[in-house]
Amino acid sequence: MSALPAADALEALSTQPLTILQEVFGYTAFRGQQQAIVDHVTAGHDALVLMPTGGGKSLCYQIPAIARHRAGKGVTVVVSPLIALMHDQVGALEEVGVHAAFLNSTLSLEDTQRIEREMMAGRMVMLYAAPERVTNLRFQAQLASLHERGLLSLFAIDEAHCVSQWGHDFREDYLQLSLLHERFPDVPRLALTATADDQTRADMIERLQLQDARVFISSFDRPNIRYALVEKDEPRKQLLRFIQDEHDGDAGIVYCQSRKKVEETAAWLNEQGISALPYHAGLDAAVRQKHQDRFLREDGLVMVATIAFGMGIDKPDVRFVAHLDLPKNIEAYYQETGRAGRDGLPADAWLTYGLADVVNQRRMIDESPAADDFKRIQRGKLDALLALAEAHDCRRVRLLAYFGEASQPCGNCDNCLNPPATWDGTEAARKLLSCIYRFWQHGQQRFGAGHLIDVLRGKQTDKVEQYGHQALSTFGVGADLSENQWRAVLRQLVALGHVVAEGEYNTLALTDRARSVLKGEVTLTLREAVEAPRRGRVGKPGQATGSKAGSAAADLSGDALARFADLRAWRAGVAREHNLPAYIVFNAATLADMARIAPRSLGELAGISGVGAKKLQAYGDQILGVLNP
Ligand code: ADP
Ligand code: ZN
Repeated sequence: MSALPAADALEALSTQPLTILQEVFGYTAFRGQQQAIVDHVTAGHDALVLMPTGGGKSLCYQIPAIARHRAGKGVTVVVSPLIALMHDQVGALEEVGVHAAFLNSTLSLEDTQRIEREMMAGRMVMLYAAPERVTNLRFQAQLASLHERGLLSLFAIDEAHCVSQWGHDFREDYLQLSLLHERFPDVPRLALTATADDQTRADMIERLQLQDARVFISSFDRPNIRYALVEKDEPRKQLLRFIQDEHDGDAGIVYCQSRKKVEETAAWLNEQGISALPYHAGLDAAVRQKHQDRFLREDGLVMVATIAFGMGIDKPDVRFVAHLDLPKNIEAYYQETGRAGRDGLPADAWLTYGLADVVNQRRMIDESPAADDFKRIQRGKLDALLALAEAHDCRRVRLLAYFGEASQPCGNCDNCLNPPATWDGTEAARKLLSCIYRFWQHGQQRFGAGHLIDVLRGKQTDKVEQYGHQALSTFGVGADLSENQWRAVLRQLVALGHVVAEGEYNTLALTDRARSVLKGEVTLTLREAVEAPRRGRVGKPGQATGSKAGSAAADLSGDALARFADLRAWRAGVAREHNLPAYIVFNAATLADMARIAPRSLGELAGISGVGAKKLQAYGDQILGVLNP
């Protein structure tokens, strides 16, 4: 049995990366560093690739895999942490005519044996497997046999940050992957991740023994994502308005911290006429799988989830990621929001936060059983996140700066589009801080936000009476600000670390930092509280606010829109037939181009980005039929 593709096929097939990109995938040009990475790896060198979600990491190993297979070098083994995604990853390759397969526990014995036979014959271009399989004895023996015959082409290690305990996706099995290098030192390796921080990078290099690998770091900017962090007022209603105004009918993810809140929010959205599914670790594995499948396959579903829903969600047309609770830190925020708009089309990252979020996050760190060192790091990370939330300047500049990248104001975040009003809050802050101080001085007692604000505003309540607080010098000194404004001042003081909320009742205490404000050594510029929730898309009155960050079809009109609808219906049929998500058949951008351009011949159709040779052959006539009925 020949280990290589038939000679005639080999002859016809190019090993040039650019040709492969164009012929197989139907794209015209490489993006960013793709070309450099592909060339480096195709030539047989090791690489570590740091690229944001949606940057196009898959092609970085798929094209070398194809090129090297065509050159007779055999099989690329792709290590991928999520069994649930392998079916679709392989399906996408088969759709473009690349022979790939996966091995995992969901396969029958028969299928497993068939795939192993094909792998051992070197016929397949890419084999996907989870780390625990790649490192087991049986598989290692198979790799050794392939290697002996020169048919072990490349190792691609996806989601490589899973080797790091530092991050949040640590996987014990990933640690064993250094074995690949020890046993097959001459087989090139490519590790890929969207996690950028220095510690994770160092862990990957050390634990995967990538000291000699070339490191490719891309810009982590995701210019198509519009960031907005808004004050929490009535979070559910704010969310509903956000979805209705900006993302009617779009697919999106809503993150919540607790399982209970996930369930409640999903149920509520459904009541409001928005199709939503819950996802959290407390659900049955089968239910989770079903919900994930539906989210990937159906159009326009909203997934309400805890962070259990995350890694490797390849769905490219997620149009928004909303947070109803604060994420743990900026890394988590960036990774979670990065799941929006992987297809490069406009998308929204929207977060709502309030005083309680700030307090809860601080408390979770304080009360965790972790070591002090660890807590200190966590606090530092939370501070950075809170500074982002309270920022008056460009969100993107701050996000990128956090990852060590300098940039200019982006024009595509809430603060750029609608600069927030700020005010000199020094005097208000001093009143608030000294009121907390007076409480302590008066009766060695601490109180929560509600009572504090009542006292500042001079409200006669039972509690004021009970503690004799109308006698305090700070009683009524803040009558000029509304309760809402005081909450905003307090939130910012907690965020900035001047005040902490402690204990069961979130009673407030001053920190050392508060002293400088009390003494008048610093001035505080605060964001103005938003009295009424802003409506719809941020923007100044009279200023064009830009189109909604909506679907690929946003700029289609009349006939083109009708064609788009027809194409979508056709695509849904094919997707069902092939048991694949619709976007794998053709993504939204490709479909929109087809509707806009309305090609009349196969030649014209072939010119559209995303239409490769195999898809042209398989679907070309059908598409022309849909477009020219
Ligand atoms: P990542 O794994 O880095 O999140 P993907 O590999 O899923 O990103 O790519 C994101 C999207 O961009 C996919 O839909 C992919 O087909 C598309 N893409 C990647 N590279 C190119 C390119 N050079 N030209 C056009 N589209 C591309
Ligand atoms: Zn900006």
